[in-house]
Amino acid sequence: MTKPLWAPWRLEYIQAADEQEGCVFCLAAEGDDEEKLVVHRGRHAFVLLNKFPYSSGHLMVAPFRHGVEFGDLDDEEALEIHRLAAQALDALRRTAEPHGFNLGWNIGRAAGAGVIDHVHLHAVPRWGGDTNFMPVLADVKVLPEALEDTRRKLAEAWPP
Ligand SMILES: [Zn+2]
Repeated sequence: MTKPLWAPWRLEYIQAADEQEGCVFCLAAEGDDEEKLVVHRGRHAFVLLNKFPYSSGHLMVAPFRHGVEFGDLDDEEALEIHRLAAQALDALRRTAEPHGFNLGWNIGRAAGAGVIDHVHLHAVPRWGGDTNFMPVLADVKVLPEALEDTRRKLAEAWPP
């Protein structure tokens, strides 16, 4: 068993999410791709970079619909989220050559969800040895320029 990722800066995210006006996913869905770090848009769901990542290239796939429970996603949303996650892995493989991935849903604040009203699937690239989080810590204070650069690379590498 690998150790769980420990990401202290996520606390800042969870606190910020509590204070933020509006939903980060809805704001991203309505906003500018570059500014909101949206990597790809489908018909029912879209993919964006996490501003407070567990690791470099941490992506999230979310339906456009707000306030839907995980179990109430319709078939089209569920299928597209799955397909977008698979494409996200492809794009990450092409750009960052990770050794593995964690895919997961955090349902509820107690499970680590920063945003509880807008379900989303995390796709987190992993590298051998990153559980000592030294390579991860290099990204702790992720510069906005670094995120913009990563967004552009992933968007360009997105599979057809
Ligand atoms: Zn929302």
